Amino acid sequence: MNDFVDEARSRVAHLLRMANTTDDRVRARIIEYADTTPEPPVMSRAGIVTTGCPQCHRTAWRQQDAEGPVWVCASCGHVEGVIVECPHCRIAMRPPPLGAPDRWQCPDCPRVAATGESAQDIEDRERQRLEALALLDHAIGLCAE
Ligand SMILES: [Zn+2]
Ligand SMILES: [Zn+2]
Repeated sequence: MNDFVDEARSRVAHLLRMANTTDDRVRARIIEYADTTPEPPVMSRAGIVTTGCPQCHRTAWRQQDAEGPVWVCASCGHVEGVIVECPHCRIAMRPPPLGAPDRWQCPDCPRVAATGESAQDIEDRERQRLEALALLDHAIGLCAE
């Protein structure tokens, strides 16, 4: 619940930062935009996520330790760091902080991902984000007229 509230608040803050304006009318327009448009896709909470164990091919569960997310195999005890790669930059994304929602962030581009998402999922989300930004630009443009 708190996460949801923080998320909504930070979205408006983020949009305001991107717009980088002190014009009260533009700011009011952005807040209205944020209130009236759908939230970005909900990232899955750090719930139950599994993968195949590379050693015994049974089920490994995602756990969170101090270092970040790890796969832990329930059968053989194999432990391996979870890696989510940016499909665009081909580099490892930054893992979510301990206790945070399952949201990985690419260090080089704005793409975000949840554990286990396909490249298509990640690219679809990025396209939706860009479309939302285009709408926002449009809203600001209307306001400036
Ligand atoms: Zn195993
Ligand atoms: Zn990237």
